[in-house]
Amino acid sequence: MECNKALSMIPQYIDQSLSDYELQKFLEHIDHCPECYDELEIAYMMTVAMNRLDHEDNASYDLSAAMKNSLKQAHEYSGRLTMLKIIRYSVCTLAFYGVLVTLFLQVRMWFGL
Ligand SMILES: [Zn+2]
Repeated sequence: MECNKALSMIPQYIDQSLSDYELQKFLEHIDHCPECYDELEIAYMMTVAMNRLDHEDNASYDLSAAMKNSLKQAHEYSGRLTMLKIIRYSVCTLAFYGVLVTLFLQVRMWFGL
């Protein structure tokens, strides 16, 4: 992913309106691009700071930690998606072999082998 694309996705990341696929691509880029990470940190802090000023008294809130936590959660979410894909793949593979074995046994019965 290009930096421009990643930067354009920052507001959606903060709004949590990225699709699962976009989120994974975005996280991959942010992990390896310090410039975009910095941009994300600034944008995140601005947004969260604004929201917190509106809703909470706790001004000494650690925004950097909050952002890292948000990224960690996004990674965990992304990791769960990958895990789901693996599980889905395994189930499909098992189902395929299940059908194959059933077919094999059926054929054996038909031909009396
Ligand atoms: Zn970048």
